[in-house]
Amino acid sequence: MWLRNAHFKDESATGITLSFSSLFYLDSFKKKCLDQALNVLSDFAGTDISINLVVDDQIKEEKPQEKKITKLSEKKKAVNETLNSEYTFDNFIIGENNLFACNVAKVISNNPGTSFNPCLIYGGVGLGKTHLIQAIGNYIYDHNPKMKVIYVTAETFTNELINAISNRTANAKFKNKYRTADVLLIDDIHFIADKVSTQEEIFHTFNELTEKNKQIVFTCDRPLTELTGINERLITRFRKGANVDLQPPQYETRMAIALKKCKDLNFKISQDVLEYICMNIKTNVRDLEGALTTLYSFSELVGREITKEIAMEHIKNFIPTQMIKNTEITIDQIIGQTASYFNVSSFDIRGKSRNKNVSLARHISMYLSSTMTNLSLTEIGKYFDSKDHTTVSYAINKIKSIEESDESIKRAIESITNNLKK
Ligand code: ADP
Ligand code: MG
Repeated sequence: MWLRNAHFKDESATGITLSFSSLFYLDSFKKKCLDQALNVLSDFAGTDISINLVVDDQIKEEKPQEKKITKLSEKKKAVNETLNSEYTFDNFIIGENNLFACNVAKVISNNPGTSFNPCLIYGGVGLGKTHLIQAIGNYIYDHNPKMKVIYVTAETFTNELINAISNRTANAKFKNKYRTADVLLIDDIHFIADKVSTQEEIFHTFNELTEKNKQIVFTCDRPLTELTGINERLITRFRKGANVDLQPPQYETRMAIALKKCKDLNFKISQDVLEYICMNIKTNVRDLEGALTTLYSFSELVGREITKEIAMEHIKNFIPTQMIKNTEITIDQIIGQTASYFNVSSFDIRGKSRNKNVSLARHISMYLSSTMTNLSLTEIGKYFDSKDHTTVSYAINKIKSIEESDESIKRAIESITNNLKK
């Protein structure tokens, strides 16, 4: 199936070059066949053979639907180079889960800098934070092209700062760039936890912009109260404006998003298969889109309609916990992800510390170890300073009993599980 799209292009003494009509086919080949192809070729040649992969758009075999999609996105030129013009309000599906956040975003877009300033949009992975914050940027840029709209991820901001620190001109340029914005959009602010200089810089940028009534919007993967490793005076600034959240979409919203996605892809899929997918993928929109794209590629490649059985087989990867069981997630990974979520060290989680945050992280690690691995309670205990099974069982029951009622625990578990899944 994947080989069919690989074309012989060239050869040299040490290897061959294969070409593909698109990056998608190239990537798929790389993931699914490259290792095997290398082995077979090297066996055949009796020496190591390298395989070069290139995209050659002269190859005419893309399906007509795919061409249409490329054309559509080609036509839409980026209006602002920091923004992705695909992220607009027009294609953001509204449901109960995001109605409030979306309305606030629209108010901001119509009158930047006047109300809801600063604004924090928070929510778990794949729930539309980047889409929404960029929709604000695109809308403002479309309606007021003179306004200086800057979108940046906290990570890029940090990297730019690091590059600018040692050079005076670069430093002035960097400061000037952000402090002269009319609308500053900072994505994934949780990234700056424990990064003191970045926090300092953001703090000053913040003050300067808010003094001039310039709009600031930022996103975070959790509410401010759960954000650790960030300077209190910065948190106080963040807290001043509006805080809105994005929740996982309900079934009906998932269905609306899925229908739209299928329409965009020109993907013909029966209603009951689509219902099946939306009933089962509850985590977030990114997973839902991922599942549909996978099924679409599959149906294009094999030229077959997607049945419920095919869908079932393919969406396994997108259904969390209960399906993850039996795969090779290790306790080390669980402890690692939990440590990074709570901003504590793995060492402390395994150890004896009675610090409140560490204890909670330890209990959640134990709980996740019991749901995501096949280890017994005694085996799990060994990873945590040789605790016995009753201690592990106590921790698991404790988390189970508060998981449903405690929003922050629920969110932590969801986020850690999602990261482990990735
Ligand atoms: P986050 O930044 O919260 O991790 P993204 O904004 O990247 O999530 O969203 C993940 C994907 O889901 C994107 O392709 C985005 O366009 C899509 N998406 C999220 N929410 C919606 C929505 N309400 N309507 C349509 N598409 C959505
Ligand atoms: Mg994002």
